[in-house]
Order: sequence, then C-alpha cells, then structure tokens
Amino acid sequence: MVTTFSTMIKSVNPATLEELAEVRVPSSDVISEAIKVSRKAFEKWSGLPLKIRLDNIENFQQLLITQKDEIARLITLESGKPLLESYLAELTGPLDTCAWLVKEAEKLLANTNIDIATPLLWGKKHYLRYEPLGVVGIISPWNYPFSIPVMTMLMALAAGNTVILKPSEKTPLVGLKIGELFKQAGFPEDIVTIITGGGEAGEHLAKADLARLIFTGSLNTGVKIINATAPNVTPISLELGGKDTAIVLPDAPVERTAQAITWGAFTNAGQACASIERLYVVRGGNSELLINRIVQLVSKLKVGDPLLETTEIGPLIDVQQFDHVVNLVEQAVSAGAKVLCGGEKISSPELRDKGLAGYFYQPTVLINVDHNMRIMQEETFGPALPIMIVDSEEEAIKLANQSTYALTASIWSANLTRAQLIASKVQAGTVFINDCLYSHAVAELPWGGLKRSGFGRSHSRFGLLDLVNIKHISVDKISWLPRLWWYPYHSSKLKTVRCGLDYMHKKDNKLASLCGFIANLTKRQ
Ligand code: NAD
Repeated sequence: MVTTFSTMIKSVNPATLEELAEVRVPSSDVISEAIKVSRKAFEKWSGLPLKIRLDNIENFQQLLITQKDEIARLITLESGKPLLESYLAELTGPLDTCAWLVKEAEKLLANTNIDIATPLLWGKKHYLRYEPLGVVGIISPWNYPFSIPVMTMLMALAAGNTVILKPSEKTPLVGLKIGELFKQAGFPEDIVTIITGGGEAGEHLAKADLARLIFTGSLNTGVKIINATAPNVTPISLELGGKDTAIVLPDAPVERTAQAITWGAFTNAGQACASIERLYVVRGGNSELLINRIVQLVSKLKVGDPLLETTEIGPLIDVQQFDHVVNLVEQAVSAGAKVLCGGEKISSPELRDKGLAGYFYQPTVLINVDHNMRIMQEETFGPALPIMIVDSEEEAIKLANQSTYALTASIWSANLTRAQLIASKVQAGTVFINDCLYSHAVAELPWGGLKRSGFGRSHSRFGLLDLVNIKHISVDKISWLPRLWWYPYHSSKLKTVRCGLDYMHKKDNKLASLCGFIANLTKRQ
C-alpha cells in the first residue's frame, strides 16, 4: 500500500522563526524502494576490503575539517545552539570517530580466537568473525542533529553496512547536508540514503525489514519504535530521555563545581538528553556558597542570537518545547518551589529589535522543590535547574535513583574515593566525577542508559560491535576422532565424560581424572 505523507516540511530558524527552506518528504513507496536499493548496494559495499571503507572515512574526516565553519553555522541556524557548541558538541565527536576508526577498526574487527578450556573440545578451533549486518536504519532527534547520527553512521559504514538516516523533521537541512558530505567524500551511490520527513516517514522506516534500527529520541516515540519493529523482530537500540542528577557533597570546591554544573544544566538551553535536571546538594560545608554561586553564574548567562560568538543560551526549539518548560516551572512554583533566578519568557525589546522572535526562556534556578513536582519527575529539556538540599549522601543516592530514567549522573566532591563509592550506587549508564555530559562527544567511550533511558550502547567498541553479526566459527581439526556427544552412546563414553567433568570441576584428584579421561577416550568410540 502506498501511503502519501505530507509532501513538504519547513525548516525554521528557531532564533528568528524565519523559514530557512521547504524540504520534500518522500512517499512510503519511495522509502520502500530506497531500502531495496540500499540492500542491493550493501552486497558490494560489504565485500570491499575494510581498508577501502576506511579510506572513505578518512576523506570524510578531511571534508569535515575543511567545511567545519559552514557546517557549524548551519547547525546553529537550524537548531539554535550557540556557535561554540556547534563546533564542540557536534563536530568533535564525528571527527574523533573518523580518527579512531581509521586507527582502530582493523584491530577491532579482526577475527578473534577463543581458547576453550574443557578437554571435551580438544582438537577444535573457535573464532569470531565480525560481519556486516545489512541495511542499518537510524532515526535521530533535532537536539544534536549532526553528531548523534553521524557518529553511528561512521561506525555502521566502517563495519560494512549501508545506512538509511531519517533525521528530525525539525532539522532536515542538517540531515541533507550529512548526505551531501558522505557523497562528496566519495562513498559510492546508495551507501548512505537520507529520508527527510516526520513521524510517519520514521514509522515507515521502522516497520521495514531492516538489519538493525538505531533510534535516538523521546521515550514516547521509543515505545512506538518497539511496537513498529516487533513484527519483523528487527534488532533495535533505544537512546531515550534522561532526568540526570548531580549530587554535590559539602566538600566540593565552590567555584569549579558551580561553573561546571551551570554548564551541564544550561548547555544547548538545557535541551540535552544528559542535561543536569536535578541537583541534590548535601547540606553543610560549602553547600550554601555553592547554590549562591550557581545563581550568580546563571543570572549572568548571555541569552540571544546563537550565531554570535559570545552567546551562551539560544532559543528553545519550538513553541511546544517552550510551553512544556513553562508548564513545569509554573506547576513547581504553584506547589511551593521558589524561583532563585529566571522563571520568565524573555521578551526584551533588545531581542525583538534584532529580529529574535523565537522562544527564549530565562535561565531559571528553583529551590524548595520535591519529588511530587513534575519538574523532578518528567524530562524538562529546557533551561531550568531545580535544586534540592538533602541531609545526607544516602538520601541523595536514594532520590537520584527514584526516577524512571537513568542515563547519566554526576558526583561532585574533593574526595575522589568517596565520590567513586557513590558512583557505584547510582543507577546510570555513565557517572561523571567532577564533570558532566561531555563524554557523548568521545568516540572511545560507550554511551547509553538504563531503565526508561533505553538500551544498547552507541560509540566505543561496544557500539561498533552492536553493528555487526558476531559470527562464531567452529572448526573441528581432528578427522579421526568422533565426538563424544555423537551416537552411539555406550559405557566407555559415559566414563570419559564423567572423568572429563571431574578433571574440569573437581578440586582434588585432577591427575587421576585426566588419566581416566584419556584412557577412556582412546577406547572404542
Ligand atoms: P522525538 O521522539 O520526538 O523524535 C525523534 C525522531 O523520531 C525524529 O526523527 C522523529 O521524526 C521520529 N519519529 C517521531 N515519531 C515517530 C514514529 N512514530 N516512528 C518512527 N519515528 C518517529 O524526539 P525529539 O524531540 O526529536 O528529541 C528529543 C528527545 O530525544 C528527548 O527525550 C531526549 O532526551 C532524547 N535524546 C536522547 C539521547 C540519548 O543519547 N539518550 C540523545 C539526544 C536526544
């Protein structure tokens, strides 16, 4: 059946609300055809020597570095993040992924021998081959529209897969630019396909018979992806939302901790899956000074045109996201939270005069919050930091773990031993000590969460191995010896097996068991 989707989507600059372009959305039959073509292209691409695939990746790296200014500007124009963040959070990860793959992929994807201890398997060789899977679908969000898909695309392509990317409908131009870059880098036709469009296009892709689907986005859509992929039993990874915590101990140094937490809560206007969205400050020591310093720093953040080099906070992506943040802050305040700074829409004449008609929200800090408030439970995805003062580390850990999400967390203390002990008790995919958030941009480090933050790991060797079939090959090198588990069954075989098990697992009489095993093995099989 051919489903026709809305044929055009608009790309809008969230800072000015100006339309940047209209982008065509393919119909479902075009998407189905693209998957078929990608499957065909896979046959050739997967057969190429890894070295050739890595040459393409090296070309891509050079292209990225040459075009970095143009790409960073486009990311800022379409997503609204400050320019510095477009370089640091969007380009470093893909560039480092290229460098890492070129250096390490041959080693990581080389066959691995497995030594087996049991004498029952003497004479066999076991090894693993890491084989490409086929067509890998990637559905990605708007908040990091470049780094999120590109880091996974590079790994999928290096491993020999072909890729179909469905970028967010809010950042289609960045999606199309990604496709253009892969083409310019010399990747053969149909190895990378970009399907622009919204949820319907994503759903159509998710329902297709893909070799794997990597989804990054909200919890709600993640559940839809589980349902859409179930009939084909398509293997999926889900990178979903977060409600990430920071736990600050009384001995944490005030200035450094306040600077870092302010960044962790407000970078990308709080629209990061791993933004600090709950801050638990353990009472005593520096706790009051720290909260005061955070409020000072947040009050001074420069909100405005994200293309300016000094802007620190851009707009929220759209009115829905803006309304969501307003609602959460209002609900918290009506339930007793106190606003320490911010808490309002920014409608300064200065912004309007510069044509900044987008949805800017004052960086906001709240105190007197509790877990009955929505802002301590739901993902905020905006520039609002709720702070709770707690009496002990144990209370902080308990509250930190009282969430349906578990993506990242951070612990702040001068005592690294103590901080690491707390890290072991906090539920998360990553726990940072005295820093936060940054590791998404690091190719070598695994990324992913627990609970409703999803499952699977991207980046690192774990992310790479998620994109291959780990094929075990078993070779029997002894042609004269029938195996013990084959027919016929008889008593000397039984004795051999019993002696073999004793040799492997009994603490004493090892030598006798081994002798019994060998003696029986050579009897009539
Ligand atoms: P979203 O779920 O609205 O959309 C994500 C992608 O899914 C988009 O491309 C969208 O078009 C597509 N989509 C929507 N409905 C679909 C459907 N029914 N079937 C298939 N695809 C569909 O999320 P968003 O607003 O773009 O992104 C923000 C969310 O992403 C936040 O919750 C954030 O925490 C999460 N996120 C997670 C990570 C992570 O690494 N865990 C990283 C970034 C963002």
